[in-house]
Amino acid sequence: MSSEDGTNGKTFNPERALISCRREFGEHGGVTPSIERSATFTVMDPGTMPEIFQGLMGPDQGGCFLYSRHFNPTVDVLARSLAAMEGTEFAVCTASGMAAISAALLQICQQGDHIVSSDTVYGGTHALLGELLPQVGITTAFVDPTDTAAFAAAIRPETKVLYTEVVGNPTLKVADIPALSRLARERGLRLVVDNTFTPMIVSPAQLGADIVAYSMTKFMNGASDLVAGAVCASREFVHQLMDLHTGRLMLLGPTMDPRVAYDIHQRLPHLAIRMREHSRRALAIAERLAAIGAPVVYPGLANHPQRALFAGMMNEGYGFGGMLTLDCGTRERAEDLMDKLQNEEQFGLMAVSLGYFDTLMSCSGSSTASEIDPEDQARMGLSPGLLRIAVGYTGALEDRLAQIERAVRAIGLASKATAR
Ligand SMILES: *Cc1c(COP(=O)(O)O)cnc(C)c1O
Repeated sequence: MSSEDGTNGKTFNPERALISCRREFGEHGGVTPSIERSATFTVMDPGTMPEIFQGLMGPDQGGCFLYSRHFNPTVDVLARSLAAMEGTEFAVCTASGMAAISAALLQICQQGDHIVSSDTVYGGTHALLGELLPQVGITTAFVDPTDTAAFAAAIRPETKVLYTEVVGNPTLKVADIPALSRLARERGLRLVVDNTFTPMIVSPAQLGADIVAYSMTKFMNGASDLVAGAVCASREFVHQLMDLHTGRLMLLGPTMDPRVAYDIHQRLPHLAIRMREHSRRALAIAERLAAIGAPVVYPGLANHPQRALFAGMMNEGYGFGGMLTLDCGTRERAEDLMDKLQNEEQFGLMAVSLGYFDTLMSCSGSSTASEIDPEDQARMGLSPGLLRIAVGYTGALEDRLAQIERAVRAIGLASKATAR
C-alpha cells in the first residue's frame, strides 16, 4: 500500500513509520506530551459553536475540540501514532479491545447482515459473533482460518465482513491475509483483522486489510496495568464511528481515558524491542521443547503448517511472536504443569492475557476460550489440555530453558531423554 513513510521501496517498516508522525511536546516544552484531562473545551467565539458541534470546525479547521467522548487531544496523539505504525489513514482508541471489535462490526453490519469469521478467535469475539450479534439479527458463519476457500464458500448475498485474527487464539493457526483481502475486494466485502498477537510483526493494512482492530491491553501496552483497544482504518470509517448521529463509538461510548492514552503512548517507542525479545525467547523455548519431544506448537518452528505463509507476511526482524502452546492432553496435566512452572520453578504466572514482561500461562479451553462450547473447541483443534504460554522476557534465558525442561520432564511430557 503506502510507500512514503516506513517503506524502503519494498518492505514496510513499522518502526520507521511510527517515528514519522508528528512529535508531541508537553505544554512547557516537556519531552513527553501533556495529559489533557478536560471533558469539555472552551469555545472562544459563540458564533462558531454550531459548526464545532457539527464537526465542521475541529482543531485543524480553526475551531477547537468539543467534548472528550468525541475527540480528546491526548487520545488523538496516541491514535495518530497507531495510524502511522499501521500505515492507515486514521485510527481511533477505545476503552478495550472488545469495544474496538464490536463497534467496528456494528458500524458495518445492520440487522439481516452476515459475517464470515475464522472459528479460531478470542473467546469474547466468538461469543460476540455467535451469541450476542444474532440477538440483533447479525449472524456469522465460522470457518477454518487457514482455508481461504471455506471463507469464499460461506459468503452469502447478505455477507458484509470477513473477520479473522492473523495468528488465531489459541491454536496459533495463521490466516492468509493477502488472499482474504483479494477475496473481500472481489466480493465487495470489508476485511476486519484482529492483530492483537502480532503488532509490528505483521501490518495487516499493508497486506490489504480494511480495518485493523487491537486489544492494546496485551503487547501494545505491555505492562498488564490497563485495558484498552484501537481501530485503525480509513479516515472515512473512523469518522463514521465518531458520527454524532450514528457513530457506534460516539453513541455506545466506550471511550479511552486520556491518562490511559498517555501511558500507552509512552510505551510504544519500545514495542519493537519488546516484540523482538518476546519472539527470540519464544523461539528458543519452542526449539528446546521440540528437541525434548514435547508437543509444542509455535509458528516459527519448521513443522508449523503455516510457517512459510507467516514468514511471507512478516515485517523483517521481529520474529514469529511471543505465543506458543503445549498440548498436555488433559486439563489435569496442564494444571499440574502450570503448578510446577509457577510454584516450583518461578517460570511464570498462571494468568490469562499476554504481552506482559513476565510469562503468563493459561489453559485456554477452560479460560479464555471457555465461551466456545466443547464441540466447537474440538472442531477448531482446541484440546482441553492445551496450555497457552505467553512468553515474557525477564530473567536469564538459560534459566528459563532449564526451568521449563525440568517441569515438562516431571509431568512426563518429554519423549526424548536428551535434547537433540
Ligand atoms: C484480549 C483479546 C481481545 C479482547 O481485548 P480486551 O482488551 O480484553 O477487550 C481481543 N482479541 C484478542 C486476540 C485478545 O487476545
